[in-house]
Amino acid sequence: MDSQYGVEIDRRGPTRLYPFLRFFRGFERNPAVQELFGRATLRVLRGLKVEFFSARFGYMGTSDVDGHLIISNHYLRDGKFRDLYLDIVHELCHVNQFRRHRPLFYPKLSYVDAPSEIEAYRFTVREGRRIGMTDRELIEYLRVEWISPVEHRRLARHVGLRGKSSRSRARRRRLKR
Ligand SMILES: [Zn+2]
Repeated sequence: MDSQYGVEIDRRGPTRLYPFLRFFRGFERNPAVQELFGRATLRVLRGLKVEFFSARFGYMGTSDVDGHLIISNHYLRDGKFRDLYLDIVHELCHVNQFRRHRPLFYPKLSYVDAPSEIEAYRFTVREGRRIGMTDRELIEYLRVEWISPVEHRRLARHVGLRGKSSRSRARRRRLKR
């Protein structure tokens, strides 16, 4: 508790966490997820927690403090199912990196060059192929609003995707108002 100017501020803002499996079902039987966690799959997913946030921007991420998922409830509601599915697979890859005590963030590197992201995107692209996505669709999936066209091409190269993407705007734009 801090106090100044005649007011007090309690700095311990609470975080509400929910069980992952309450909102995301069947992932414990998913081959990609099983490949990540092996025999620990059910145990990991049972222990995994999700925090929802209501700001009208952002998608999802993984906490580098305790490895829980952080998800925009706007994206959860309005995002395309396949994007959500692949993003969850991507984030579970980060959850696994966290479990292995590997860094999730590399502040000195661009997002598209961070080893944690390259590994997660490679894994996600493999899963995208397994569910029948074409290279073109995968290249589109990689195009997110927070990276430049040059970074997008670099990310595609890092994950072994070549070819042109269409000129349409990034698939994940700022969410609806
Ligand atoms: Zn990531």
